[in-house]
Amino acid sequence: MIRQQIRIALDPDDTPKSYVNIVPYLRSPLPPPIDPTTGEPVNPEALTRIFAEECVRQEVSQQRTVPIPDEVREAMIRFGRPTPIQRAYGLEEMLKTPARIYYKREDVSPTGSHKTNTALAQCYYAMKEGVERYTTETGAGQWGSAVALACSHFGLEAMIYMVRVSYEQKAYRGTLMRLYGAKVVPSPSQNTEFGRRLNREQPGHPGSLGIAISEALEDALGSQNTKYTLGSVLNHVLLHQTVIGQEAKQQLNLIDTKPDYIVGCVGGGSNFAGLSYPFIADPRFKDTEFIAAESDACPKLSRGEYRYDFGDTAGLTPKLKMYTLGANFIPPKIHAGGLRYHGSAPTLSALIQEGRVRPLAYNQVDALNAGVLFARAEGIVPAPESSHAIKAVIDLALEAKKRGEERSILFNLSGHGHFDMTAYGSLMDGTLNGESMAAQD
Ligand SMILES: *Cc1c(COP(=O)(O)O)cnc(C)c1O
Repeated sequence: MIRQQIRIALDPDDTPKSYVNIVPYLRSPLPPPIDPTTGEPVNPEALTRIFAEECVRQEVSQQRTVPIPDEVREAMIRFGRPTPIQRAYGLEEMLKTPARIYYKREDVSPTGSHKTNTALAQCYYAMKEGVERYTTETGAGQWGSAVALACSHFGLEAMIYMVRVSYEQKAYRGTLMRLYGAKVVPSPSQNTEFGRRLNREQPGHPGSLGIAISEALEDALGSQNTKYTLGSVLNHVLLHQTVIGQEAKQQLNLIDTKPDYIVGCVGGGSNFAGLSYPFIADPRFKDTEFIAAESDACPKLSRGEYRYDFGDTAGLTPKLKMYTLGANFIPPKIHAGGLRYHGSAPTLSALIQEGRVRPLAYNQVDALNAGVLFARAEGIVPAPESSHAIKAVIDLALEAKKRGEERSILFNLSGHGHFDMTAYGSLMDGTLNGESMAAQD
């Protein structure tokens, strides 16, 4: 007999028509971004020099929901929404756990991760406002790929600063961006003042997300008809990702399941927020436990401080109140490039502060081993970032086994790992190191 409900699919028409804004659901008002020169809250007007105007409006929105334009919804449907939820029977059997494990498949987007959701929205708004060129940074390359695709879809030019270590480790990601029509340079680059300075001080500098953001911002501020797009951390970006959790709620409702645990990995917080915020905002899920899996090489949520800090290394952004390891922190060269960010989304930071989300940090060796187990059980190679969530899920499932509890676990498979064979290759060759922050300091 074929077991029921291996995949829970929705119709294109079930794609959400609005985003869920977590801000009005926080217990205390969200600390605003601060202008570092005056120490006062930033005037949203000033942010429109950098970001599309609609993104800035959404950034400061207190509304519980924000409508999704038809064109954005159509583009999301064209590029794969709604995404399925899949029951991880293979993994459950392998672990011999009584837990039921479900995963939301953001890996099925054409660029291989959830990042397409916000890239399409941001490119649409920019295009409507007459912007012709977008600059951005990319770590592991998933964000760059999503921006490249979305820019091509809405007719914008894309200029992408790719963290050098990833540019070298994941060269095909750069090729994919160029294939979609984007320009890509390794960061620190020769295009900007900041990049040239870092290259002089340390030739072959590995780069970091903070540095690449500084470069993309410097470029945007100094160029005509150009704006900057960010792939994580900010309220409007997390907002765009809430299509994930809204779909997941519909899907689990179809099988009468309330998850005991919801798990996602955290770089800046967008895929975690995308899956979890619609559940956190809904009092019916008050008993669900929310787990944010981060890298122990960049453990801002579990070892960082909750304070105002810059989003980038050069100090060009407003200061955000967030869990941070410090804007100058250069994380070890781990393979989960998307988790190498020093800070974290202010809304996620606030939820952690409130005790509503629990952070857990994992070593890349343990995470990638979990990823290999998942690939063998489910056939899908997870992104190294997603493997951190999978490691958390496996621990929960084994805990449930020990206690004989039939728990249900939902996690976000934020992306696939088809461009991460270097990472998995070095794991299997036994040359992957378990460099954590502790090893560095
Ligand atoms: C970018 C990325 C992440 C980390 O970023 P978040 O904003 O925290 O989601 C995680 N997984 C994948 C596949 C990514 O591309």
